Amino acid sequence: MSSDNDLTCSFCGRVKPETQILVAGLDAHICEKCISQANNIVEEEASKDDSSDFSIELKPPKAIKAFLDDYVIGQETAKKVICVAVYNHYKRIASQKSKDELEIQKSNLLLVGQTGTGKTLLAQTISRFLEVPLAIVDATVLTEAGYVGEDVETILTRLLQSADYDIEKAQQGIVFIDEIDKIARKGDNPSITRDVSGEGVQQALLKLLEGTVVNVPPKGGRKHPDQKFIEVDTSNILFIAGGAFDGINRVINNRLNLQAIGFKNHVKAKKIDTENLLQYITPKDIRTFGLIPEIIGRLPVLSYMNPLDKFTLRSILTDPKNALIKQYQKLFFMDNISLTFTSGALDFIVQKALDYNLGARGLRSLCEEILNQSMFDLPGTNITELKVTKLFVEEQLKRIELHSLKAVS
Ligand code: ADP
Repeated sequence: MSSDNDLTCSFCGRVKPETQILVAGLDAHICEKCISQANNIVEEEASKDDSSDFSIELKPPKAIKAFLDDYVIGQETAKKVICVAVYNHYKRIASQKSKDELEIQKSNLLLVGQTGTGKTLLAQTISRFLEVPLAIVDATVLTEAGYVGEDVETILTRLLQSADYDIEKAQQGIVFIDEIDKIARKGDNPSITRDVSGEGVQQALLKLLEGTVVNVPPKGGRKHPDQKFIEVDTSNILFIAGGAFDGINRVINNRLNLQAIGFKNHVKAKKIDTENLLQYITPKDIRTFGLIPEIIGRLPVLSYMNPLDKFTLRSILTDPKNALIKQYQKLFFMDNISLTFTSGALDFIVQKALDYNLGARGLRSLCEEILNQSMFDLPGTNITELKVTKLFVEEQLKRIELHSLKAVS
């Protein structure tokens, strides 16, 4: 008499004790390993079917900028530079399709500016406008692991996920690499301070920026060793790198001063706006800061973000299509409460964000603190109106230790 233990997987032939699960069909059995493999095959085939003949409708830079203006306040220079770079990038892709012999080079971007000034927001908004997938990655994570190739693949896995595994779409997507400045050499002496552990990652990153074909595990990491790889060509992926480059103002200042001395006897040096030195940034400054020339070369379009002043912060509160205040108004409206802010209240919130150096991210935490009690108390009552005045803001903020406020993203 045959026992259960004699049952075998009809696909790989393993006997039941060698399997974890053996699923019975009409006249066959299948083990967990074969199920998993079969599943991979199904997914792979499905992803092939999903692959569209994706192409982006080319819109002129002015149209891109008009869209950006709805969401990103100020940053005029950066916006214009980005719009042109993005336009050229997708023109480049279009020219490849027409098999033109003259090859246009990639216009990957480098954005320099303090954190919270809108670098990520710009990348997000551009991707939304173009309806292309976006992956946001942190360069510091890449250096920490330090495995050649391994982490770089994770970037593309994220892009694939964001593209719903449509490879064509992913290959024309955008990757935003944050904190690129953190993979710079530490210190001024290039010979002894190279970040050795990051070297491999930098090399892998270089290839990625330039354009290479990478075998990407669809779900990322090494947790799924049986997974089939997906080949992703990065040639048409637009890379936008961002970083605060803390201390670069000094580099720029030094360079400008040296130039001024050099020119002293010939022409009167142009007046320098010392409040916002980033506007004078050049690739040379980035190099002096410590980013390796190979990376700088592959991020040929350089622009800067202005620090957010009082007027910009005020506008960020109320003007973008999805402005914070509009979001809170909607939340209150859903409880049939009309929420309004006096001008004095808004100015006061901005001033607090500036006083505590919280930037645009701080506006959110301030609003949360100011409105939290009301959002708890008011729903379910007969109250239909909340007018936020400066006094109201002061009272609400008194309840909390302001230094406990954190800038949230
Ligand atoms: P960064 O990438 O430069 O560190 P983010 O783009 O993440 O900054 O900005 C953080 C948040 O601050 C954004 O989600 C947005 O709400 C707000 N913000 C920052 N700058 C702007 C801006 N120029 N216009 C509108 N909102 C902004």
